Amino acid sequence: MSTKSALITGITGQDGAYLSKLLLEKGYTVYGLLARRSTDTLWRLRELGVDKQVQLIDGDISDLSSLIRAMQLSAATEVYNLAAQSFVGSSWQQPVLTAQLDGVGVINMLEAVRIVRPDARFYQASTSEMFGLIQAEMQDERTPFYPRSPYGVAKLMGHWATVNYRESHGMHASSGILFNHESPLRGIEFVTRKVTDAVARIKLGLQDKLHLGNIDAKRDWGFAGDYVEAMWLMLQQDKADDYVIATGITTTVRDMCQIAFAHVGLDYQQHVVIDEKFLRPAEVDVLLGNPAKAQKALGWTPKTSLQQLITSMVDADLRRLQA
Ligand code: NAP
Ligand code: GDP
Repeated sequence: MSTKSALITGITGQDGAYLSKLLLEKGYTVYGLLARRSTDTLWRLRELGVDKQVQLIDGDISDLSSLIRAMQLSAATEVYNLAAQSFVGSSWQQPVLTAQLDGVGVINMLEAVRIVRPDARFYQASTSEMFGLIQAEMQDERTPFYPRSPYGVAKLMGHWATVNYRESHGMHASSGILFNHESPLRGIEFVTRKVTDAVARIKLGLQDKLHLGNIDAKRDWGFAGDYVEAMWLMLQQDKADDYVIATGITTTVRDMCQIAFAHVGLDYQQHVVIDEKFLRPAEVDVLLGNPAKAQKALGWTPKTSLQQLITSMVDADLRRLQA
């Protein structure tokens, strides 16, 4: 049994919950940074049955002193920096906060690692949103970035800071450029979960219409449970590096809706209403990732199809509403 210790920022988020479960199964002691909120943020850890097994440390990604303390208390040998204002849509309303958490916050965490335990391995949650206005049909680690939102801009800072700490301080710092990944634990503001929750409500007669924005946008969607394995694999390599994690398949929001509604015998065209309110000031029209490097170097491949993913999310939302 391993006695490794990991610190996860963003432990209460979708990926934090799946990663906690994975690391606990591998025998790690798992510490998580808990930003104090007035609402219950432990529901995801509870749903996966790991809320009692993780050690929570109060702190905030914008507060360097709390991150130093978390590093000292956890004695972590692996640090997974997942904390972020993660919703692209909100980043236009909160651009400064997004920059502070998703850009400067990464530097805070890198500094805490450098000061307390520079030999700890560091994972940064980078994103396909950095590709934005895509510069290649299929995006990989060498594709130039062109972010289209304050979120993408801030994440690009965090990405380059990670590369820079690797190159200037010799730290084992890796950046995972993850394409969209979803699960029944996805936040309700993201389009997949917004759709699956609405499908369940419509099926149960609790709602009739679903208001969406640009349903012609295309995303490369995978399952979060598959993607956290890639995070862990990156930190098990001798050398730190950057990796694109994606499925290599892109699908329109429209076709994703079709899958979700059809699963319960409904026609999405009868229920989806286009609402300008959900259009974005600048859109990322299409994302399509090439995970060849991760496949070759990490032996990682996605295991879950979009059909399996979306139908499992609809089923989970039906169960929640029926309970
Ligand atoms: P998520 O569900 O929104 O989780 C975000 C986490 O960050 C939550 O635990 C949240 O805590 C925490 N957080 C927010 N502000 C904080 C602060 N000031 N201090 C400390 N913690 C704070 O996001 P996710 O889907 O799990 O994504 C994990 C990471 O991967 C994020 O950095 C995201 O930007 C990135 N990413 C996600 C995707 C995707 O498709 N899911 C793709 C690429 C990259 P509360 O619960 O207290 O709010
Ligand atoms: P993102 O790729 O990180 O922005 O993930 P989202 O799930 O928020 O959005 C994915 C795509 O769905 C984007 O192109 C959105 O413009 C599009 N979309 C269309 N309607 C909606 C909606 O009502 N909510 C959200 N969140 N996205 C929508």
